[in-house]
Amino acid sequence: MEYVSTRDKSRKVSAAYAIANGIAPDGGLYCPTEFPRLSHEDWKALCDMDYKGRSAFVLGKFLTDFTAEELKSFADAAYADEKFGGKNTAPMVKLADGKYMLELWHGPTCAFKDMALQMLPHLLTASLKKTGETRTACILVATSGDTGKAALDGFADVDGTKIMVYYPVDGVSPMQKLQMTTQAGKNVEVVAIHGNFDDAQSAVKRIFIDEATRANLDKNGLMLSSANSINWGRLAPQIAYYISAYCDLIATGEIKMGDPINVCVPTGNFGNILAAYIAKQMGMPVNKFICASNRNNVLTDFFKKSGSYDKNRDFYTTTSPSMDILISSNLERLLFFVSGQNDKVVAELMGQLSTEGRYALAKDLFEKITADFDAGCCDDAQTAETIKRLFDEEHYLADTHTAVAVRVYEMYRKQTCDKTPTVIASTASPFKFCRAVIEALGGTLEQDDVTQLDVLTQLTGVAAPAPLSALAGKTPRFDRVVDKSEILGTVELLKDL
Ligand SMILES: *Cc1c(COP(=O)(O)O)cnc(C)c1O
Repeated sequence: MEYVSTRDKSRKVSAAYAIANGIAPDGGLYCPTEFPRLSHEDWKALCDMDYKGRSAFVLGKFLTDFTAEELKSFADAAYADEKFGGKNTAPMVKLADGKYMLELWHGPTCAFKDMALQMLPHLLTASLKKTGETRTACILVATSGDTGKAALDGFADVDGTKIMVYYPVDGVSPMQKLQMTTQAGKNVEVVAIHGNFDDAQSAVKRIFIDEATRANLDKNGLMLSSANSINWGRLAPQIAYYISAYCDLIATGEIKMGDPINVCVPTGNFGNILAAYIAKQMGMPVNKFICASNRNNVLTDFFKKSGSYDKNRDFYTTTSPSMDILISSNLERLLFFVSGQNDKVVAELMGQLSTEGRYALAKDLFEKITADFDAGCCDDAQTAETIKRLFDEEHYLADTHTAVAVRVYEMYRKQTCDKTPTVIASTASPFKFCRAVIEALGGTLEQDDVTQLDVLTQLTGVAAPAPLSALAGKTPRFDRVVDKSEILGTVELLKDL
């Protein structure tokens, strides 16, 4: 299978090359030139496998320059039972009114990012070998909170790699910040920036296309790579959990093979929901993708208002910080797919986005998108109300991001009367966003962030995940804060790691 940039499809590269390099030199994102289709036999085989087997199988359809044995050994290591709290890597919880909560946060950092970032280091180090790369890969990560910790955990002390994480100093939850700043490992660096996630993400993208920086790193035996969902190696492992969820719905008798489902995803950078869209292109029957946003509702406007994407708007910090994003990078891949891989159109639209901060789709493109996608948003008060109601009525404890998705799904169901079973991506442990969840439930906050975990346990009877309790008493290692204009200079730090 070959990969091309969304902005120039003339140069074809292997999966290993796309993963090793992260982003194309023209600033575009690598995409497969075709979607593998799952046959009836494939589905039957998948349904008989455990999560590790399903992951390796789905990856094998895309990463054709990797062997089945390689991928299986990666999946066995990435999703080892002791890392994901048991055999059921991505369990599903059935709630009322067609809601199936797909819990993607049982990994080491308690957010769904682990599903990809436990796999990516294996894929990346193998990709470096396959492409004959001898330099050390420096992974630059812009994070709105969860990617940073998950990437640090995945790459800490992995040979042949260094990792540097940038997070918005006032834009992450206290627990997220503590998780990142206490990260162990010889090859890790964490930098806070004055600015929001978009500033961090744009700066990282600029570093990637800065020739002088690349040359300077190259002289020191270093190369750049990415662990954000702009990297195909981040996105590909996410496709598997939707296919796995479909198999689980069949296994439990909720649906029959071939029945459609909906997929509702709390969305920021558009990576998670795009993985579900790709699962559909492989043959998973999906009626609607429901894209859920918080008050930063640039995507809701895009899907609801005739395909104009406009980031020229106020940016809000919310109780669901991992979705506080105005530039949803992976939308670029969706545009590439629905336009029939029209790299010229995508390059032009992305050019407009970077110069004017907005673009508008042609009508035919927009209609293709709305055939598949619906969207909605809610504010912090509605999110809190949903957390409380879900807990009181269904005894389900949701984090703020997941609650946004539940709220948007409820509105969708009311408006459309669509009763299709709906897989809702549950993207983080509620204990990662303790303050907001405790407040939503009407509890009393403690001063200290780790003590907060006990407060939530007392309120709900739910135990805190061990990796979060283990933060008690740990001292932060990283306290550097820089202005967003200084990010380029921080690349120098990589040389000393
Ligand atoms: C990253 C994240 C999201 C958004 O996912 P995207 O792939 O960026 O759309 C939602 N919820 C949580 C908890 C996250 O960490």
